[in-house]
Amino acid sequence: PAASGVRAASTFLHDKAFVDGKWVSAKSGATFEVTNPSTGKVIGNVPDMTATDTEAAVKCAHKAFQSWKKRTAKERSIILRKWYDLVLQNKDELAKVLTAEQGKPTNEALAEVAYGAGFMEWFAEEAKRIYGDIVPSPTSSKRILILKQPAGVAGMITPWNFPNAMITRKACAAIAAGCSVVLKPAEETPYSALALCELAEAAGLPAGVLNVVTCSRDNAPSVGKVLCKDPLVSAISFTGSTVTGKILLEQSASTVKKASMELGGNAPFIVFETADIDAAVQGAMACKFRCSGQTCVSANRMLIQDSVYDVFVDKLAAVMKKELTVGDGFDKNTTQGPLINSKAVEKVESHVEDAVAKGAQVLLGGKRHSLGGSFFEPTLLRDVTVNMRCSQEETFGPLASVIRFKTEEEAVAIANDTSYGLAGYFFSKDLNQIWRVAELLETGIVGVNEGLLSTPEAPFGGFKQSGLGREGSKYGMEDFIEIKYVCMGGI
Ligand code: ADP
Repeated sequence: PAASGVRAASTFLHDKAFVDGKWVSAKSGATFEVTNPSTGKVIGNVPDMTATDTEAAVKCAHKAFQSWKKRTAKERSIILRKWYDLVLQNKDELAKVLTAEQGKPTNEALAEVAYGAGFMEWFAEEAKRIYGDIVPSPTSSKRILILKQPAGVAGMITPWNFPNAMITRKACAAIAAGCSVVLKPAEETPYSALALCELAEAAGLPAGVLNVVTCSRDNAPSVGKVLCKDPLVSAISFTGSTVTGKILLEQSASTVKKASMELGGNAPFIVFETADIDAAVQGAMACKFRCSGQTCVSANRMLIQDSVYDVFVDKLAAVMKKELTVGDGFDKNTTQGPLINSKAVEKVESHVEDAVAKGAQVLLGGKRHSLGGSFFEPTLLRDVTVNMRCSQEETFGPLASVIRFKTEEEAVAIANDTSYGLAGYFFSKDLNQIWRVAELLETGIVGVNEGLLSTPEAPFGGFKQSGLGREGSKYGMEDFIEIKYVCMGGI
């Protein structure tokens, strides 16, 4: 039905999982509740699937892979492109589903749906460019050919902060490469994943190529284990916390899976005295407060050079006061939705308390919002130091903590003094400094005079314990492709 037109959001709320092209329940019949983090109201119930259900889904995906891998790149491309068109046609309704389950403001939900669809378009194009090589041979009787082939079934586990785009960024790369997918969405946000399945089917994606297995947090470890250990699965792709990523890596060692991991960050955001301070404030707003600070590339440590420290802090406080409005994501004025759950609120709260106890000053916010639930006030802390928890751990909330530094060398040392290395940002107008610092930062993504970086065309991924592999860009399919060397002899 979606192929022929635009749907109402309520009809995108599927209460079944999607396996082998069918809407299915858990074998046990069990379900779990999904709630709106803004209101606490139950949106609905979806299947609480188990290891057994997941094994069945993997079998279907493995069967579908046998024919999907034989389709031409162009056929795969056309389906992905059709999926893209359908998502854009239905973007308003998909954004409503997203806001309802995730809490982010409508504008951000719309931006995410467009960003997520961008991976459908991008990988529809890349599908046709999985080129092999012919390499000059050292022996006149032999020829060296290099083929690229799809890896097989790809298991995927995704988080709740981008319930749409974290799925398309992985699944479209795998599908374009000729793989089939079994995906477990975050328990907080399964509906966006299921809505995408409906449109995939309408776009002509064959049954079994994309399977979504929903489950509660209680069942996540056993479902995850199947995806990591089942010999029919060839690759595992995860976005989420470093703690969980390490568990999955360990588990998938047993069957030597190809693993791609997009894990946590602790992004430095450096403002040098050479910077345009107003631009730096705008950059800080963009990369700190999007999704209420719940993104893995959110600025976690703002490092501001001594001579511009006060002016930056004053300007940031003024802009935060003017531009940030906390509320329900469906309210037009809202820029800051709720945090995902009470655990997330407790973490931000404990980071503020720890910082204050160690000498930081609260300039704005600092506590739970009067709206209650999981709303937290946008918070600005000054006089933050590197020994505070908010400097050492990813806060994942609307907390801007501002550290003072004296020299470039000191800033780079602080920035790199972490086991994470996803994104880093800095503001400077000195060309030499820009080259120096861009090369010195130990992060997979560097924003120079820019706070918004993610786009399908560019590689997303981290150094150090922030992950393995890259998503998006021409590199994004590599984790789903096997390289085969064919030696032709007797020539
Ligand atoms: P968060 O704590 O923010 O939810 P996680 O990394 O724990 O971050 O969650 C990201 C995704 O990983 C979710 O889909 C969640 O269900 C899943 N997950 C969490 N723990 C496990 C596990 N042990 N095995 C498999 N999946 C897991």
